[in-house]
Amino acid sequence: MVYETEIILIFILGLLGLIVGSFSNVCIYRIPRNESIIYPASHCPKCHSNISPKDNIPLLSYILLKGRCRNCKNKISLQYPVVELLSGLTYLIIYWIYGVSIQTLIYIIMSSALIVIAFIDLNQQIVPDVISLPGIVIGFILSFFVSYISFVDSILGIAVGGGIIFVIGLAGSVIFKKEAMGGGDVKLAAMVGAFLGWKYIIVSLFLGFFLGALAGIFLILSKIKSREDVIPFGPFIILGSFITLLWGEKIIAWYLGF
Ligand SMILES: [Zn+2]
Repeated sequence: MVYETEIILIFILGLLGLIVGSFSNVCIYRIPRNESIIYPASHCPKCHSNISPKDNIPLLSYILLKGRCRNCKNKISLQYPVVELLSGLTYLIIYWIYGVSIQTLIYIIMSSALIVIAFIDLNQQIVPDVISLPGIVIGFILSFFVSYISFVDSILGIAVGGGIIFVIGLAGSVIFKKEAMGGGDVKLAAMVGAFLGWKYIIVSLFLGFFLGALAGIFLILSKIKSREDVIPFGPFIILGSFITLLWGEKIIAWYLGF
């Protein structure tokens, strides 16, 4: 019986992740364009025809339509199914680590916000304030109601996260004479810090820098990007945060073991 409940729960959570992922796609497209995320209903960005509910099923519709709009036959961006799948998988991985707990609930909400930010940053090189600023406040308020993070830890997380990026951004702009990290990244790091606390935000940022540097070297060596191109840092902060969210405790233990 316990086993069956577990399977049903996993199924519902995975499905919820896919559905929220579908809504995330709407947010990723509309927030940077200052459009309402509720109205009008989903439409094809190319021919503007409305998308019927049967063509709006996460993942499945993309496969059935073979990645093309039913009306104009233009290609639908691969980003749509990728975000949906990523969202569903993220929900399941968080549940796998944290089980039935308040942490799972809070972290899946946070992860959905972070997925939206990551893709907006990848597409437009901006971290939208409309998500990061409320995110800082929500993360801080929640810390009063949960036992796994104290409000002191949350506020330190905001200060340490935002502070590290601010100082590095400042140093970068002095050394390289161009903006290396924007205010958007400062607010993003502060938001993650509010949810994870000061220790985990340090781990998150460290991983972010490491992964960002690796990706930068790879993109430049493979000539996909040149030295002059801007590689957004937000997605790496977010990737670092996810890794920390899942294995932060183990990473800190491993590091202290040296
Ligand atoms: Zn179309």
